[in-house]
Amino acid sequence: MEIYDVVVIGGGPAGCMAAIKAGEAGKKVLLLEKNKEIGEKLLLTGNKRGNITNLEDIEEFLTKYRNGQFLRNGFAQFFNEDLIEFFESSGLRLKVERGQRVYPESDNAGDIVKLLKKLLKKSRVQVTFGKTIKSITRNNDFFELSTSGKNFAGRKVIIACGGKSFPGTGSDGVGYILARKAGHTIAKPVPALCGIEVVRTDFAAKCRGITLKNVRISAFLRGKKIGEEFGEVLFTHYGLSGPAVLNMSGDVSEHLGEGEIKLEINFKPALTRDKLDGRLLRELKENSNKHLKNMFKNLLPVGLIPHFLQYAGIDGEKRANQITKEDREKMTDALMHFTMQVKGTRKFAESMVTRGGVSVKEINPKTMESKIVPGLFFAGEVIDVDGKTGGYNLQAAFTTGYVAGTSI
Ligand SMILES: Cc1cc2nc3c(=O)[nH]c(=O)nc-3n(C[C@H](O)[C@H](O)[C@H](O)COP(=O)(O)OP(=O)(O)OC[C@H]3O[C@@H](n4cnc5c(N)ncnc54)[C@H](O)[C@@H]3O)c2cc1C
Repeated sequence: MEIYDVVVIGGGPAGCMAAIKAGEAGKKVLLLEKNKEIGEKLLLTGNKRGNITNLEDIEEFLTKYRNGQFLRNGFAQFFNEDLIEFFESSGLRLKVERGQRVYPESDNAGDIVKLLKKLLKKSRVQVTFGKTIKSITRNNDFFELSTSGKNFAGRKVIIACGGKSFPGTGSDGVGYILARKAGHTIAKPVPALCGIEVVRTDFAAKCRGITLKNVRISAFLRGKKIGEEFGEVLFTHYGLSGPAVLNMSGDVSEHLGEGEIKLEINFKPALTRDKLDGRLLRELKENSNKHLKNMFKNLLPVGLIPHFLQYAGIDGEKRANQITKEDREKMTDALMHFTMQVKGTRKFAESMVTRGGVSVKEINPKTMESKIVPGLFFAGEVIDVDGKTGGYNLQAAFTTGYVAGTSI
């Protein structure tokens, strides 16, 4: 059996970067990918446009992850500008969009995959497709990797199998099993960057398709805040989605089963209770002869108004000049604390990333080497780090891949 210097398991962004870097350094590298192609998930990213990173500064960047501090050292070695330089110096032109998100100028994630393929070739990485690694065993000074057919051997092994989300792309959680068998602790994998299901789907369904802009959404577990986001929320047939909800979904997933979780939307987060009451008073005065449902057009999306008023227990047919102080209080409450009870989150099949994975306490952040099994490395989503939407997950995958590949 041929023994490689490095065997990388998984041809996603993390595995490809690790293999390219180890190959560039002159190592004999084998990349094993169970699919027929590399980067199947990468092709879907950013609505198939590939939001590869974000131009925020490092301190802001680190706040966008759970366990972000684990990446600090890696980012010191290879951060957003380095990733941009990595791609642009190889001929892939990039552009920056709203929210400092970086995409290929071609708007085609396929161009990232094409370039990675080219660089794998250039670094003389041997790529073998259609091989699913089922176990890793240590044999004196090398590791033996078994598949249902042929076995492979490497002096160093990098596990870059991804998480459990979108399993159709190849990442079905086997990386966690391989890591656990090697002695690692796995933080329970749960879906993240996905929609949140609510108990009263009838309400959500009535509001389906309505987008709320610039709202604050918070999640509470038995009254204790477990997550908060600001931005856009979308009503769906099952509950809520949209960027703010996606970004909070991991916090909700993580606590499911621990007690009642409630979501609270503040429609006017820029206003204090007093200021909001003042705004309502002004609207009521200026529209004194209008029905309440018409006055609300200045405060909420039109489609939401009847459902909102019903929720708040206020008769929309009342005229503004008939509104009592008690009604106003109900309105303020509902505008600031619009509450929905959580049933669950969408499943892995619809979640963009996995929260959980190989414990960061057991990986050296300077090298990505296991602190438990020398010679074993981790890169990408298999590690217990997950980021918000905006290019953070791909940057984490490329950075950890870079660090693993170069430190070997
Ligand atoms: C729809 C969608 C959109 C997204 N958009 C963005 C975005 O715009 N920006 C962003 O930053 N992030 C985005 N993400 C998240 C991002 O794609 C992932 O975090 C990233 O791909 C993780 O990289 P990885 O290399 O760790 O794992 P993966 O990309 O999952 O790659 C793992 C690879 O390992 C292979 N593999 C698994 N097990 C084995 C095994 N046992 N043997 C051999 N091979 C194996 C798999 O087939 C797969 O090719 C998105 C995700 C989804 C699903």
